[in-house]
Amino acid sequence: MSDIIYMDHNATTPMAPEVLEAMVPWLREGYGNPSSIYRLAQEAREAVETAREKVADLLGADPSEIYFTSGGTEANNWAIKGVAWAAKEKGTHIITSKIEHHSILNVCRYLEGLGFRVTWADVDRYGLVDIDQISDSITDQTILISIMFANNEVGTIEPVEEIARLAKERGIPFHTDAVQVVGKLPLNVGELGVDLLSLSGHKFYGPKGIGALYIRKGTKLHPFHHGGEHERGMRAGTENVPGIVGLGKACQMAQEGIEDEERVKGLRNRLWEGLSSRIDDILLNGHPERRLAGTLNLCVKYVEGESMLLNLDMEGIAASSGSACTSGSLEPSHVLTAMGIPPEVAHGSLRFSLGRKTTEEEVEKVIEVLPPIVEKLRAISPFGKRRPL
Ligand SMILES: *Cc1c(COP(=O)(O)O)cnc(C)c1O
Repeated sequence: MSDIIYMDHNATTPMAPEVLEAMVPWLREGYGNPSSIYRLAQEAREAVETAREKVADLLGADPSEIYFTSGGTEANNWAIKGVAWAAKEKGTHIITSKIEHHSILNVCRYLEGLGFRVTWADVDRYGLVDIDQISDSITDQTILISIMFANNEVGTIEPVEEIARLAKERGIPFHTDAVQVVGKLPLNVGELGVDLLSLSGHKFYGPKGIGALYIRKGTKLHPFHHGGEHERGMRAGTENVPGIVGLGKACQMAQEGIEDEERVKGLRNRLWEGLSSRIDDILLNGHPERRLAGTLNLCVKYVEGESMLLNLDMEGIAASSGSACTSGSLEPSHVLTAMGIPPEVAHGSLRFSLGRKTTEEEVEKVIEVLPPIVEKLRAISPFGKRRPL
């Protein structure tokens, strides 16, 4: 397990040893329920509140605006359903984009089934959302705009600041799925002007099964879980104390280590340069500049992404085709499709996502290994390499 070259950081990251260490006491002797009154419990309560401050610090928020969830998926579900339920009197129109994570897409589809109207904003060939379309689709029935901060498949960074400004002018709450950004790029909810923001621990070296929703003071939304008074009555359920402590530690470490992104970007660019000079008919997906430092999504024509992945796996290289959530499905990526990439090309997509521990040697190894794999696959392809597309 230890010898693999891991290039799937957008799917999940290895937990930092420091995070694990911070969590262990809360899995062993610190088992108190933070809602109880004796010391064992109150220590757990303090640990939760300290973690909340660390999350708030990383985002430039007030701790009272941070609510712990079971991850990015729950934070996204809550933001959208919570606002939708609270605003039903005002209107039933929601604006989002075609390239969101499934935890946004499928929530919006569910709401469509309940009678809400959803505008699915288009993106250009780089994956940037059409701001004019968003602006033009706003009506007095619009109750929420939700646009992701950076796309998990291609890494394109959306103009969230502009969209937030637009939303504010029209008095509409704005949510952003920042799961791929928190811990990678510095961000400040005040400067961004967002009302709701989702994050997830395991995407930046924290534990799985923990995340948070930032809710700006005054934003109207219904609780997600009903039950006890946990999370100020907004998210019932006994707190995941070890997970929360781990998330706090991951936030603290992210604040200290954000400059590593330049190094990661250098490696990512070297990987593209190496592959594109050795493989012909290869295309870069995503925005050339406005893109997450570690993300390299490409299409290799005339081969299947899945076949490349299996061959890479045999060489000990872990990558992905599109998003982790859709691998195994035969549908081409909804993100690449929205970007106008034809399905037969999108089927040859491959995503490498680099991280803190990625080394130059690993990048060179991938540059060495992939071209012969592509050559082999193209040679055995029933359509031949020059199949007209
Ligand atoms: C991973 C991811 C999620 C889901 O987060 P989980 O904590 O795994 O539920 C949501 N949005 C984006 C953009 C992601 O990359």
